[in-house]
Amino acid sequence: MSDVIYLDNNATTAVAPQVREAMEPFLTELYGNPSSIHTFGGQVAKHVDIARQQVAELLGCHPAEVLFTSCGTESDNAAIRSALPVNPQRKKIVTTRVEHPAVRNTCHTLERPAPIGFDNRVIELPVDSRGELSLPDVGNALDENVAVVSIMWANNETGVIFPVETIADMCRDRGILFHTDAVQAVGKVPINLAGAAIDMLSLSGHKLHAPKGVGALYVRHGCRFQPFVVGGHQEHNRRAGTESVPLIVALGKACELAKANLEKERTQVRALRDRLEKALLASCPDARLNGHPDHRLPNTSNISFEYIEGESILLMLDEYGICASSGSACTTGSLEPSHVMRAMGIPYTAAHGSIRFSLSVYNTQAEIDKVIAVLPPIIRRLREISPFGRAAAAKE
Ligand code: PLP
Repeated sequence: MSDVIYLDNNATTAVAPQVREAMEPFLTELYGNPSSIHTFGGQVAKHVDIARQQVAELLGCHPAEVLFTSCGTESDNAAIRSALPVNPQRKKIVTTRVEHPAVRNTCHTLERPAPIGFDNRVIELPVDSRGELSLPDVGNALDENVAVVSIMWANNETGVIFPVETIADMCRDRGILFHTDAVQAVGKVPINLAGAAIDMLSLSGHKLHAPKGVGALYVRHGCRFQPFVVGGHQEHNRRAGTESVPLIVALGKACELAKANLEKERTQVRALRDRLEKALLASCPDARLNGHPDHRLPNTSNISFEYIEGESILLMLDEYGICASSGSACTTGSLEPSHVMRAMGIPYTAAHGSIRFSLSVYNTQAEIDKVIAVLPPIIRRLREISPFGRAAAAKE
């Protein structure tokens, strides 16, 4: 797979060599249980502490505010589910129409009537055609019945960044807990939780060059928290289960690298992304950018190639070893535009042909140049065989 051009880093990332190296001893000789009383276990516990410190340094918070989980989805579940019993008289959850299913489906589960569910009401805020939220809409939704607001830091499909720090301030003023799913933002944009009104923040290891199966949840000091996974006393009684030390060490190292690479994300990764985007928009007719051109992650570009199906584009790119992803999902045998594209009101013919390119610090200029050379002829070929493409061409 060495010839693969991997532009699907919002789906998952390659494990960094330094991360692999850091976790290796904990898969071999250092296998002790960090909760054990003996020295053999104790020396492992020290590395869990170091990893917690590394995560805290990337987030600008105190290590005691970081708890390790198994993934971003678990962190999202833990945060939102904890916020409700903490405030039992409040029955509303405010979120957006473009959250990842880890948040959306958690909220909808909590909306089901008792005894299966919890009888809460979920308010999903709309976004505009560039994927942005309206702050007055947010303010209007924040009444005295709201227990928690969960709004993502950056969108996984478009990269659009929401003003979560401002929204967190609005929540604090009204005594409402604020959680952000920062799974796509951590390691791509600077985050400093010191002094921020954010109560809880989720992150996931496999989006920042650690392996799959590890995540973290920031819980602000003083924020009341009820554990989601219950059992032993690990993580100071906030997340039970014997710690996956190799994965925790890997996440710590990945956070240390991510902090060192933040400037590269802002300059090198952004420059490659912009080069790709500019060239594709210039060389492919009827191509449009989805999402705000500036308020977005430096690594993400979501482009619609009208009148053709994203899936067909992906299959043809795959023949060249180029990996990206599309904004449609196969639901009950038919291709449906994603909930994000629908929420933005992207026309059907454009949403179907949307492709997400998501880069990382490991991409090179030569890779981007190959995509710039290969993709426009693919688009031309697919338009020639598409009935919608031929109809559009005939109108010109
Ligand atoms: N939230 C966002 C915004 C994501 O993009 C993802 C994964 O794609 C998740 C949550 C879930 O993270 P994990 O795969 O670690 O469960």
